[in-house]
Order: sequence, then structure tokens, then C-alpha cells
Amino acid sequence: MSLHKCSKCGRYTMKENCPYCKAPAVSPVPPRFSLEHAQKYSKYRRMLVKRLEQQSK
Ligand SMILES: [Zn+2]
Repeated sequence: MSLHKCSKCGRYTMKENCPYCKAPAVSPVPPRFSLEHAQKYSKYRRMLVKRLEQQSK
């Protein structure tokens, strides 16, 4: 079972077609596979590592 997002109205549905406007619903790309997010995450991870290093001193 997976969540789909309507490509037209943006509503979430379990079906492959939006029950509201009948447009095809697509699986939203998981954030962890988004390049933009990956870049944000690596930035955050560096901050976290830095913080952990400071705490361990
Ligand atoms: Zn829709």
C-alpha cells in the first residue's frame, strides 16, 4: 500500500487515480531521494557531527 499524490489537485490518495478530479496520482518522491534534500541533509549532518565533536570535548 502506498500513498499517491494527485498530479493535478495535489490531494493524497491511496488510489492510482485521484478520486476527486480523476487525474493520475503519482507516488511522491521520498525526500531522501531528492537531491535538494540530500544536499540539505549533508549540510545538517555536518552541523550535527560538528556539534557532537564539540560535546565530546
Ligand atoms: Zn486530484
